[in-house]
Amino acid sequence: MAWSVQTCKVLALTMGYICIAVFFTLTSYVVYVYYSTIALSVLEKKAYKKFVFHFIFGNWLVINVYFNYFMAWLSSPGLAKDYQNLASQYRKCKKCPNNKPPRTHHCSWCNLCILKFDHHCPWLNNCVGFYNHRYFFQFCCFMTLGCLYAGTFGYREYQIGLLGEQVFSYKDSIFHPFNILETMDIPGFITYYIFLAALTIGVLLVGLVWWHGRMISRGETSLERVLNQNYAQQCTDQGFVYVNPYDFGFVGNWKRFLGFQTISEFVRRVLLPSTHKPEGDGITWDGYNVNTNLGLHQQKSHQTTGPTGAQPNFPGGYPINRRRVVTPPWEQQNNPMRTSAVYQPKTPPTEAKESIKDR
Ligand SMILES: [Zn+2]
Ligand SMILES: [Zn+2]
Repeated sequence: MAWSVQTCKVLALTMGYICIAVFFTLTSYVVYVYYSTIALSVLEKKAYKKFVFHFIFGNWLVINVYFNYFMAWLSSPGLAKDYQNLASQYRKCKKCPNNKPPRTHHCSWCNLCILKFDHHCPWLNNCVGFYNHRYFFQFCCFMTLGCLYAGTFGYREYQIGLLGEQVFSYKDSIFHPFNILETMDIPGFITYYIFLAALTIGVLLVGLVWWHGRMISRGETSLERVLNQNYAQQCTDQGFVYVNPYDFGFVGNWKRFLGFQTISEFVRRVLLPSTHKPEGDGITWDGYNVNTNLGLHQQKSHQTTGPTGAQPNFPGGYPINRRRVVTPPWEQQNNPMRTSAVYQPKTPPTEAKESIKDR
């Protein structure tokens, strides 16, 4: 068994390096074709304005794609083992000897506990967590733009550079591949389909960016999305409101995630490569206030009353207008007093008393 686990890990690592090699080979080849064929053809036609625009836009995309990829791949996602002196009050991991601060989860691929664990990404051969989540998401965004750009502008201009005009359409690539092969020869044919593959990948990445964007808008990681959905259903079934403790509202979540407050900061930190660290330390989640979040939630759902006399089956619940907001059980800590320093909501005195009794 131990052997097979080890083999799986070696295979996963090998797969990771293959993914990285595929990424670098394909992207650098497309950049090479841009410079060796497309840029020259545009310059030959003396279309200088077009050249300058695409030179700046294309390089901005390439720099951002590579920068965010390197940072997401090579920077540590945040390891719980490096913060054990601060994390002694938290519950123990079942798979390794470390304590797990809130939002920390164990990655079976890396066999490590990762702060604000999102997922393990084979394309980066790394975990996505507290310190590299932004790089991962920005990489996805710039890669999407880059793929769509290559699959539309690059696809057309490559044919013009090679054949003098655009000869084939997207339809031809499905119905007349042999005509393309005859006209372009093998290297041209392969390059033509690489540009089409870029378009396909770009369309798929739009879905991925949308999916991750929705979770960031809700203040969730990929793993918390699943946990929250299941737990919210359990709470609803018992007549309680579950509020995600890390949801700061749409705008608040994005500002925290990307780390900007002003428009000039947005330009410097989001549109240009930036190594700024995320807000906080990834262990404590100060500033968290479930009452604010509950207010937002109640405004949305108009639910202010619930079943009378109902008691929650959930630890950490406390009454508000007969409803109870519950904190997720996987975030319950060993020491309730220390918990309050981390993310215990501020409750009015009478409710606070009851909530202590409930525990
Ligand atoms: Zn662990
Ligand atoms: Zn991992």
